Amino acid sequence: MSPDRTTTQRVEFRGLEYHADDRIHPATYSMEGSSGGGWRIDRNGVEHLVLGAGYRLLRTDRCGVCSTDLDRRFLPFPLPQIIGHELIALDADGKRYVVEINASHAARGLEDGCAFCSAGLTTHCPDRRVLGIHDLPGGFGPWVLAPERAMIPVPHGLSDDVAVLVEPFAAALHAAEQVAPEPGARVAVLGPRRLGLLVVAALAARRKRDGSHYPILALSRRQALRDLALNFGADEALEPPSDPGRSGPLAEIVIDTTGSPLGLEASLGLARQEVHLKSTHGQPAGGLAHTTELVVDEISLQAWPDSETEIASLLHRAPCRAGDTPRIAWLARQAPPETLAQNAEVLTGHDAISLLARLESTPGPLPRADIAVVDSAAGVDAALRPRAEEEIALVRPRGRICIYGGKPGDGPVLSAIRERGLTLSGSRCGDFRRALDLLASDSELATRLSSLVTHRLPAQRLPQALKLARSPECIKVVLHHPPREQTTDARHRDEA
Ligand SMILES: [Zn+2]
Ligand SMILES: [Zn+2]
Repeated sequence: MSPDRTTTQRVEFRGLEYHADDRIHPATYSMEGSSGGGWRIDRNGVEHLVLGAGYRLLRTDRCGVCSTDLDRRFLPFPLPQIIGHELIALDADGKRYVVEINASHAARGLEDGCAFCSAGLTTHCPDRRVLGIHDLPGGFGPWVLAPERAMIPVPHGLSDDVAVLVEPFAAALHAAEQVAPEPGARVAVLGPRRLGLLVVAALAARRKRDGSHYPILALSRRQALRDLALNFGADEALEPPSDPGRSGPLAEIVIDTTGSPLGLEASLGLARQEVHLKSTHGQPAGGLAHTTELVVDEISLQAWPDSETEIASLLHRAPCRAGDTPRIAWLARQAPPETLAQNAEVLTGHDAISLLARLESTPGPLPRADIAVVDSAAGVDAALRPRAEEEIALVRPRGRICIYGGKPGDGPVLSAIRERGLTLSGSRCGDFRRALDLLASDSELATRLSSLVTHRLPAQRLPQALKLARSPECIKVVLHHPPREQTTDARHRDEA
C-alpha cells in the first residue's frame, strides 16, 4: 500500500554521483519526510537539501542516458549530483510512472505559487528544481522524490523500452510542434541520433496525425544513422555538406540535435528561415555565450522588423496574454520608432540589469519583458542572463529578443539574423500526456521508438554506461535498478 501524505518515510542508500571533473563517485544518501510535510535529504551524514511539500518517494526502475547527462558539468547547477532524468519509477504497489522533471509550484500541487505557474509557464517556474539536473537526485540513483502532480501512470499497453523514452520523445514532439512547418517547407534534422531520431519520428508522426505535408530531411555523417532516420520517417537522408556556407541552404527549417556547439554554426548555413536548437551543451556557440539558456527559456532571436505592418504582426504575436499590452525592453542604442509606444509599453535603457529591476518593481502579469530589443551579441547575452549567478532572463520564457542596428558581423548567429533574416529558436521539455496520447494512437511509432534502446546495463555500471553513450555505435543506454523485495515497513535500508 502506498503511504498517505502524513506518514513519515525514510530510505538510506548509496548513490553514484556525477562530479564537476566528469567522474563518478559514490555517496551515502538518506531521504526522510512525507509528501504533506516535506523532505530532508542528507548526503554523507550531513544535511544536503530541505524540500517542502509536494514530493513523493518513488523507487527507480530504470533510467535512460541522454546527452545532457554527458555535458552536465557545463550546466550552471550545483555538482556533485545524482543525475538521470529519463526514468520509470515505481510506487509502493509496483505501479509504473513516468515523471515530468520540472518541480515547479504547480507540479508539487502548491496553490498560488508564483506568477509563472499561474500563467501556465510551469516548466519555467523560477523556483523550480529539476529532477536529475538541478538539485533533485535523479534516476541513476535507486530512489527519487518526484513532484506529485508530475507523476504520470504508464498506460498498460506501453512497454518499458518505450516508456523510458517518453521524456525525450515529449521534448522532440514539442520541437516538432513549435517549428510548425508551413505546407511544403522542408525540415532538416541535423545529427539524428539519441534525440535527433526522436525528432524525426515526432515530425513524421505529427505530419501523419495532422494530415500536413512537409518533407523531412535527415543529415548525418554516418550511413547507419541515415538508414535509421529513413526508418523513423525521414523522406531523405544525406551526408551534411562539409562547407554549408558554400553549398547554401538545404531546408527552410533546421533542427539542431547534435548536442555540440559546432552544430549551431553548421545549421546557420543550412537553414533558409529558422534554426531550432535542441542542444543544451552549456558551452558558447555561434558568437553567443548563452545559447543553452536560450533553449532552457525557449526564447527566439530574430531581426527587428523593418515595416510598420511587420512590427504590428510581431506585437500581435507577442507572448503576453491576449488583451495585455506587450512590454518591450529597448536596449538598442538607436531610438525606437515613435509610433511603437502607441501599441506597446516601451522601457528604454542601456543596461539589462537596471531594466530587469524596473520590470520587477512594475506591476504586471510577469516581472519580465515580452520582447527585448538589442543591437549586439553582448546585448543578446545580457538579455538572456542579466545578473551573474542568477538563472533568469530579462525576457519572459517563450519571449523574443530582436536585433536592431549595431555593427555588422558580431558572430555567425547575428550575421545570419541581420543579413538573411534568419530566426534562431529553441525548445526544451514537452508535455508527457500529449506524447503518451500520440504513442497510444500510433503503435507503429511506439515499436519504432523501442528500437532506439541499444544497450542495457545495471545501474551500478554508470561509469561504463556514460562511456558507452559517448561511443558512436551506441544510441540509447538504459540503466536498470535491481528489483527489490516488497516491504510493508516504511523504512528501507538500501545497499545498492
Ligand atoms: Zn534528456
Ligand atoms: Zn512557480
